[in-house]
Amino acid sequence: MASMARLVMKFGGTSVGSIERIRNVAKKVKREVDAGNEVAVMVSAMSGETNRLIDLVSQTSTMHDAREYDVVVSSGEQVTSGLLAMALQELGVSARSWLGWQIPIKTNAVHGSARIEDIHCDEIINRFEEGQVAICAGFQGIGSDDRITTLGRGGTDTSAVALAAALKADQCDIYTDVDGVYTADPRIATKAAKLDKITYEEMLELASLGAKVLQTRSVEMAMKHRVKLQVLSSFEDLPGTLVVDEEDIVEHQVVSGVTYTRDEAKVTLQQVADKPGVAALVFGTLADAHVNVDMIVQNVSEDGKATDLTFTVGRKEMDLALSVLEKLKSEVDCKAIVGDPNVVKVSIVGMGMRSHAGVAQTMFAALAEKGINIQVISTSEIKVSVLLAEEYTELAVRTLHTAFDLDAE
Ligand code: ASP
Ligand code: MG
Repeated sequence: MASMARLVMKFGGTSVGSIERIRNVAKKVKREVDAGNEVAVMVSAMSGETNRLIDLVSQTSTMHDAREYDVVVSSGEQVTSGLLAMALQELGVSARSWLGWQIPIKTNAVHGSARIEDIHCDEIINRFEEGQVAICAGFQGIGSDDRITTLGRGGTDTSAVALAAALKADQCDIYTDVDGVYTADPRIATKAAKLDKITYEEMLELASLGAKVLQTRSVEMAMKHRVKLQVLSSFEDLPGTLVVDEEDIVEHQVVSGVTYTRDEAKVTLQQVADKPGVAALVFGTLADAHVNVDMIVQNVSEDGKATDLTFTVGRKEMDLALSVLEKLKSEVDCKAIVGDPNVVKVSIVGMGMRSHAGVAQTMFAALAEKGINIQVISTSEIKVSVLLAEEYTELAVRTLHTAFDLDAE
C-alpha cells in the first residue's frame, strides 16, 4: 500500500456543475480515501451559480451593501458542500460539510475581495483520525467584523491553497475543466502543449498576465508557503501540471509560455508639458481615484517643452481615468487626452530569461516580421510584455509560440 498522505482536493464550478458530476467527484474523493489518505475537499459553486447570484444582487440594488453581497454570493458554495457530503455518504464514506465560519477561515473585512488572515483547522484534523472527509465551502470566510466575506472571483483556488498550507498537506490538487497549464491558450495556439512542470514564479506571472487557470492570489500563497500544487482535469484520469520550485525542473526552456490579456486600455496625454511634477500629478490623481496603472512610456521631448505620456489602465477603468485626467488638462498643459480600449497585452514568461540575452530582441523581431507594431513595452526579470492593437492577438500569440520553439510536434 502506498504511504498515507494528507491531500487537499479542489473542484471548480464545471467539475460540480450537475448532480452527475458531483457523484463523479465523490468517486474521485473516495478513491483517495480508500488509498488511505486524509482528505479535505474545497468546492466552488455549481457552474453559472455565482453569476446568477451576482445578477440577483444587481437587480435588487445597484449601490449594494458589500456585506449583503457577500451573504448572497457565498451561498453557491454552501449548496455544493452539502451536496458533495451527501454524495460521499451515499458511497459509504464519512464526510461532513464545513462553511468558512465553521472552520473558521478568518479574513479581513474587505467585503467582496477579502484576504485570508488565519485558519484554525484542529477539528478537521481530529476528524481525519476518525476517517472523516472535510468538505469545505470555498470562496468564503468570516471577516474581522464577524460577518461572512468572499475572496473575489475565482477565490476557491485561494481557499484551497490556504487550507493546504494550514493543514500542512502533502499536495493541493486543483481539479478543473482543462488538463493542466499550457504553453499558450490552446484555443488560439493549436500547437500549444501541456507543461508537466512549471515554477511558482512563472505560474504567478502567467496568472497575473492573463492565464485564467488559477487565481493569482492562490499562486502567491502557494509560493509563499511552498504548497505543492497540481492542476489537473476532473474528467480525465491523467497527471496534470505540477507547480514546483525551480530546483525541481531539470530542463529549462528559455520561454515557458505565451499569454495575453484584453483587460487593459491605453491612455495617452498628447503634448504634455515636459517639466518636473507632471508625472507625479498625473499618477497621483489616478491613484487617488483608485485607478491602477500598469505599463508606462514617456518619450524624451525634442524641444524640451512637450512630450507624449502613454500608459495602460484596466479597461473597465478607462472612462474613470479619462474623466479625472480631463480636470488636469490645463494644469499639465496637454493638448489632448485620448483613450484606446482596442489593445491587447501579449507576454512571454520564462525563468530562462534571467540567463539568456536577446530574448526581448527575438520577440520584437518576430512581431516585426509579421508587421505588428508594438505600442508599449514593459519587462521584469522573467517576462516581457508588449501592448498591441487588439486585432493582432491571435497572430501575435501564434507567432511568439513558434519563435520560442514551443510548438508541439
Ligand atoms: N464561485 C466563485 C466564482 O465563481 C469562486 C470560485 O469559483 O472560485 O468566482
Ligand atoms: Mg476558477
